[in-house]
Amino acid sequence: MIVGAGGNTTMQVGDQGILLVDTMYAQLSDKILAAIRKISNKPIRYIINTHIHPDHTGGNENLRKAGATIAGGNVVGNIRDAGEGAAIVAHENVLNGMSAPTGVQAPAPSGAWPTDTYVHGQKDLYFNGEAVQVIYQPAAHTDGDSIVFFRRSDVISAGDIFVTTTYPVIDIQRGGSLNGIIDSVNRIIDLAVPADKQEGGTYIIPGHGRLCDEADIVEYRDMLTIIRDRIQDMIKKTMTLQQVKAPKPTSDYDPRSGATTGLWTTDMFVEAAYQSLSARK
Ligand SMILES: [Zn+2]
Repeated sequence: MIVGAGGNTTMQVGDQGILLVDTMYAQLSDKILAAIRKISNKPIRYIINTHIHPDHTGGNENLRKAGATIAGGNVVGNIRDAGEGAAIVAHENVLNGMSAPTGVQAPAPSGAWPTDTYVHGQKDLYFNGEAVQVIYQPAAHTDGDSIVFFRRSDVISAGDIFVTTTYPVIDIQRGGSLNGIIDSVNRIIDLAVPADKQEGGTYIIPGHGRLCDEADIVEYRDMLTIIRDRIQDMIKKTMTLQQVKAPKPTSDYDPRSGATTGLWTTDMFVEAAYQSLSARK
């Protein structure tokens, strides 16, 4: 786990090279590379993006150039793969979002775009002697979330579906939803197996914040489910957003996850939760 000013990066290292999950911001690429080189001099072969946001994909182009795709690895005279860099794996909606024609210019440079996408279910890789599953999580934090399950290491990279720093960001504009986040968190809990006394076992790397185990994400799931039920109840009583905010439906969790300043405040979370739960199914 590499921690910096962007989203957390996961690094898997072995004889075949390096696999990264998420790349923080572009301006942090030198620092990430320095951290990688303290551990291994092997090439970066794969980059997996958990979703499109720039604090998780900003370093794609720089770190891709620092790597090489595995297809080009040992093939002498394979011109097509020469200098191509690491493969970037993501759900197709990440590519769609990065490459969408805006009339002037694509939202992200083409060197940052995923090279290897999938649409349904999951994408399986086998790298460094380990099965790595990239599993689609529909309508969760965004419309293009993947969790990454390292089956042998017993580590799950959750992306921003799971954060320990604030309430989860529900990116409604990009097709995110509170119920999708809760479904995805339940999926992660299904995959995770605790060791003795519910501690340790499978490790879960959140999109932002500290390294967690199953007990941590169960607590997070319970919090989100309770808040969801409270807000859902008030919506059923046809309460307006202002009426929902007034009794502070998150107050018992605010000491841990709330914020009054910064990029994602409690107010923004309640508003997004309300919108998400009010939307027609
Ligand atoms: Zn995000």
